[in-house]
Amino acid sequence: MNINTNYLNLEESYLFSTIARKVNEFQEANKDAKVIRLGIGDVTLPLTNSVVSAMQEAVTEMSNSETFKGYGPEQGYEFLRTAVKEYYGRKNVELAPDEIFISDGAKSDLGNILDVFELEGTSLIPNPVYPTYLDTNVMLGRKINFLNGNENNNFLPMPEDGDGGDLIYLCSPNNPTGATYTRDQLQIWVDYANKNGSVILFDSAYETFIKDDNLPTSIFEIEGARTCAIEFCSFSKTAGFTGTRCGYTVIPHDLVLNGTKVNKLWLRRQTTKFNGVPYIIQKGAAAVFTEQGQKETRANVAYYLENAKIIREAFTELGFWFVGGDNSPYIWIKCPAGYDSWQFFDKLLNEAHVVGTPGVGFGSNGQGYFRISAFGNRENVIEATERIKKLFR
Ligand code: PLP
Repeated sequence: MNINTNYLNLEESYLFSTIARKVNEFQEANKDAKVIRLGIGDVTLPLTNSVVSAMQEAVTEMSNSETFKGYGPEQGYEFLRTAVKEYYGRKNVELAPDEIFISDGAKSDLGNILDVFELEGTSLIPNPVYPTYLDTNVMLGRKINFLNGNENNNFLPMPEDGDGGDLIYLCSPNNPTGATYTRDQLQIWVDYANKNGSVILFDSAYETFIKDDNLPTSIFEIEGARTCAIEFCSFSKTAGFTGTRCGYTVIPHDLVLNGTKVNKLWLRRQTTKFNGVPYIIQKGAAAVFTEQGQKETRANVAYYLENAKIIREAFTELGFWFVGGDNSPYIWIKCPAGYDSWQFFDKLLNEAHVVGTPGVGFGSNGQGYFRISAFGNRENVIEATERIKKLFR
């Protein structure tokens, strides 16, 4: 037996381990320094009351023989799929319940979706971007073209910024840059995909951070998307489910390749390789869509966005170039002249005792850029920005 040698082509990611080592070394040498972490992509606020109550009720149901649940439907319980359908309905996007697949988070489906496409196609992947897209393609030995995100296109690359592809990954609002595509830009992408017979894999994990009503929160708000797109969404950043695990993937019936519905293949794939998300978790996720759940969720998102605003104001005052932070929890700043991503990381850590994420960890085009996350607590965000202002003023 031989291994899948494609795995040997994966680049080791030392990003977060290097950050942890540098922070530990610094803290060891400066025991009294209060280090503030604005580097993490994880949420910090706990699950909301609605979610916790719903999960507690579900636990009680599971402890009772009359209401106990064993294996559930692989595609997700109808109550949650209906809640997702109604959520899209409020954005004027009509979905059939069987176009929605409940998942254990966006990451699994983003990787697993490659099962239903031919291996020979070319993937078009933004640079920089969330590293899962690239690594899952490398694992299968797929051909990869990159889409150049840069200062000129405000890190929102368009078809002319790459050499084309059959599977197009778009992430909006983007991790790491926080940049968010406009309706017109997504229309160009949808038209491009329909014309070329490509499929857009649209990652909307951060859609609840979009506050500007003119910006689309789903690819299916764009005309023509039903014949060329799949959407991946998640309760992770929306409702603090990073450790609880739940998401959903939308595959319209109109997405047909070689005379076959991709939806049908994905259903077959899921019923074969996946046994569904726990009932207790799905009950918690459904509570996110209740009126009270939406209110609580919006309050948490507003808290992070206020953090983002404080960070943006600090960098505006300092005259740094940046994108993001207005409709996303990430602010993507250009390092001052003379600093690459890691040199800027070291300066912030050593002189302001603030930790961020070097942009180069998200792709070569991230070199010279830096991601600051708004997922921290308010007090720390204020203190960190004061220190940064003092350092660069
Ligand atoms: N997509 C993007 C752009 C992300 O940044 C993340 C997590 O950081 C995910 C997907 C994964 O989300 P989940 O927790 O639902 O697997």
